[in-house]
Amino acid sequence: MDAALKSLSYRLTETEDQGMDPTAKAASAALNGMRNDNARSVETPAEVAPLPPSAKRVPDAIATGRPSREEAEAAVRTLLRWAGDDPNREGLRDTPARVTKAYGQLFGGYEQDADALLERVFEEVEGYSDIVLVRDIPFYSHCEHHMVPFMGLAHIAYYPTKGVVGLSKLARVVDTFARRLQTQETMTAQIADVIESILKPRGIAVMVEAEHLCMAMRGVQKAGVSTLTTQFRGAFKDDANEQVRFLTLVRNSKS
Ligand SMILES: [Zn+2]
Repeated sequence: MDAALKSLSYRLTETEDQGMDPTAKAASAALNGMRNDNARSVETPAEVAPLPPSAKRVPDAIATGRPSREEAEAAVRTLLRWAGDDPNREGLRDTPARVTKAYGQLFGGYEQDADALLERVFEEVEGYSDIVLVRDIPFYSHCEHHMVPFMGLAHIAYYPTKGVVGLSKLARVVDTFARRLQTQETMTAQIADVIESILKPRGIAVMVEAEHLCMAMRGVQKAGVSTLTTQFRGAFKDDANEQVRFLTLVRNSKS
């Protein structure tokens, strides 16, 4: 086995066994089963599996029931009191307004359409059909279980069939999905889904490595544990050599 692959599978085992709390493990197992990511559950094909609402690439418009800014600020004051503090003390007086404003940016991905980002391809490079790899795309997200940040790097590779997209577009796709309440597994699948459906490449590989602050700060309190998720589609799914090529290219950037 290739050395890069060996160290990767070691890390995968390590994080699966020790890093995840039981709830996260169960959720991840459920997601894997539902979506049939490359191996685990062969009886449910990905094409017909129902996706959880959080896995939709384009979230339904929040047509009704979206609270006003005043209601959102009141909710923040409630949470400040729930944490044990006094929302009326000087240092916290403007906090509800700041938090609701910050939400606009931290969760701005709900307003963005990842599909639209990929619609313009550079057709002048239509002849190019070898691997396109964008690695070390930094992202910041929030786990949907605790609303606590998780952050890390995404690596994306594909074999183009009808032109390539601007490299910054892939970074914006990652950002669009990261700026929503997420699980790392769902985010990884969403990135692969949108590239698959818009660019129709011959193969896609997505790897996300992240540190979850909800794991570092609460529960098992393990800092520095990196969780890895992958999605392999098309050529990357069918051919183990393609996976090794992808993993080697990603890992070689770290030396
Ligand atoms: Zn969490």
